[in-house]
Amino acid sequence: MSRIAYVNGRYLPHASASVHIEDRGFQFADAVYEVIAARGGRLVDEDMHLARLHRSLKALKMAAPMGDAALKLVMQEVLRRNGIADGFLYLQVSRGSAPRDFHFPKRAEPSLVMTARRHRGPAAKLVEEGVGVITIPDIRWARPDIKSVSLLPNALGKQQAKEAGAYEAWQVDRDGYVTEGTSSNAWIVTAAGELVTRQADSGILNGVTRLGLIGLMQREGLKLVERPFSVAEAKAAREAFLTSTTNFVLPVITVDGTPVGNGHPGSITTRLREAYEAYVALQGGAR
Ligand code: PLP
Repeated sequence: MSRIAYVNGRYLPHASASVHIEDRGFQFADAVYEVIAARGGRLVDEDMHLARLHRSLKALKMAAPMGDAALKLVMQEVLRRNGIADGFLYLQVSRGSAPRDFHFPKRAEPSLVMTARRHRGPAAKLVEEGVGVITIPDIRWARPDIKSVSLLPNALGKQQAKEAGAYEAWQVDRDGYVTEGTSSNAWIVTAAGELVTRQADSGILNGVTRLGLIGLMQREGLKLVERPFSVAEAKAAREAFLTSTTNFVLPVITVDGTPVGNGHPGSITTRLREAYEAYVALQGGAR
């Protein structure tokens, strides 16, 4: 089945789908996005993603391209036309296309693009064996809580991780505390068994996976502490993991080459991953 993209009201062959060269997403990274997992043809935590989309749009004083009911219909249609049960939907809203000028255009209509891809999460080997992260300075703008397409520092960090043989780069603020990964949230389990992740202030993107997992932790009776943690603390932690829509819960077994805990995925991480997978499967209609 050939891939289909949605671009401003039209369903087009992916290979020839495009936006105008003066789209403000292209010119100024003046655009926001969401990546939503699909399971069994249903979008996982769709409403949480839409709530975050609206938060991002509002923070940038950008109009929504259509109402939520219409947006949900288009999202379903993109999945359907691509024949996707399990995969990801990518959605981007830009402020629209207008002659290049820093001021907001008076008349531009927001532009809406969606694509979808088949995928079932990270390779089993990564889940079973865990992954390594490196640490890098957080050089992003001061509002990474807005899910904007301004992702150059993230792309540079991810590439640096790859070149170092690592899976992800954990970004570190000026005070030596981990903010988050380049496309994931960062977590540790302390010796006391507390789950620690940075509080969702303006320094991180409040991951939908992070939020879903927090709900599960409360049900599992695990102790969550939302606070910054240092690189040294991460290296000395009992367990570490990362969360994102594309990885769910992925064990982190080294930080800058230093083994975390015994250097293998920890039991709390594994338990959380299983609980999260069950939570996702349930939304996809599994019993
Ligand atoms: N932090 C950053 C910088 C991200 O780009 C992402 C996802 O792309 C996340 C965290 C995780 O967010 P979510 O769980 O909503 O995918």
